[in-house]
Amino acid sequence: MKQIPKKQIDVKKVISGLLNGDIVSLSKAITIVESDNVKDISNSNKIISSCLKNRTNSIRIGITGVPGVGKSTFIEAFGNQLTEQGYKVAILAIDPTSTVSRGSIMGDKTRMNTLVNNKNAFIRPSPASSHYGGVAKKTRESIILCEAAGYNIIIVETVGVGQNEISVSEMVDIFLLLKLSGAGDELQGIKRGIIEMADAIIINKADGDNIDESNKAMAEFSMALKLYPTKKSNWVPKVLTCSSINNSGIEPIWKLVLKYISDTKENKFFAENRKRQNKYWLLQTINDKLQSDFFSNDEIKKELENQYNLLDKNKTTPFAAAAVLLKI
Ligand code: GDP
Repeated sequence: MKQIPKKQIDVKKVISGLLNGDIVSLSKAITIVESDNVKDISNSNKIISSCLKNRTNSIRIGITGVPGVGKSTFIEAFGNQLTEQGYKVAILAIDPTSTVSRGSIMGDKTRMNTLVNNKNAFIRPSPASSHYGGVAKKTRESIILCEAAGYNIIIVETVGVGQNEISVSEMVDIFLLLKLSGAGDELQGIKRGIIEMADAIIINKADGDNIDESNKAMAEFSMALKLYPTKKSNWVPKVLTCSSINNSGIEPIWKLVLKYISDTKENKFFAENRKRQNKYWLLQTINDKLQSDFFSNDEIKKELENQYNLLDKNKTTPFAAAAVLLKI
């Protein structure tokens, strides 16, 4: 198909298509909102403000885990089950490796191939950081677009190895960590901080010879989680097992998500948390913009080199150097 040149994008048509749940319009809108091109800012703002007026009630779920733990297999089993129950599911995958070529995680055709063909599911990879300091922050805007397009379950998937999880936990209502039995956290590359963020730990691949090990891991984790401080949500994190390839244990995970949502709505944490997250993203956006403006300023760039030299020669201190730079 011939690509439409950017100039010819009819933003009104894109918005009305999106609000009618048209997947092509939704994809186009996300591309515009993700764009770093200044020419797209006005269209992007129009799309976002229309979407903010047309939001649906949604559940935002973050899913993380190291490569190979079974995230895409799990999301496929989970997502298909939810669409069977009448939900519309959007999956936004943050791919840390796709800063250059968009969507390398999802580029693999074998990932989620039944969900790809499910008309009530929408799958979209996001580049992790397309510009200075940005860690998938555009994913947050994509959530709003998906909600306006009628998706009531939003899954944000990320690889559990780095900084992205903090951003993801700040854009979702509930955060799930997928793990394997047997391997220690160090082996699985999971940081303690990520375990602390999790509202539920799911031991995947609980099938075949692995069932006993998985149950053992579940018991151990349940004990270990008791040592963590109480969460602001008052929710006590749970551990479950499942087999994504056998589709077993998936329904209890959904029930757990629903229980979390109803508990946190009842104790008001749900709404408060979304408000707090909005403020977080406001400040984050300002920080990013200030940083990027600061470091792209030619005078600053020159003076920074100079201050580096002075530091190397012990002629200044980091604080004194910062003071000079901040005065420019
Ligand atoms: P991701 O990198 O975390 O997205 O992991 P994938 O979903 O691509 O799964 C990695 C491998 O684990 C694939 O070969 C899957 O078939 C396999 N796998 C995923 N879930 C299960 C499961 O529940 N049981 C078993 N035995 N294998 C699984």
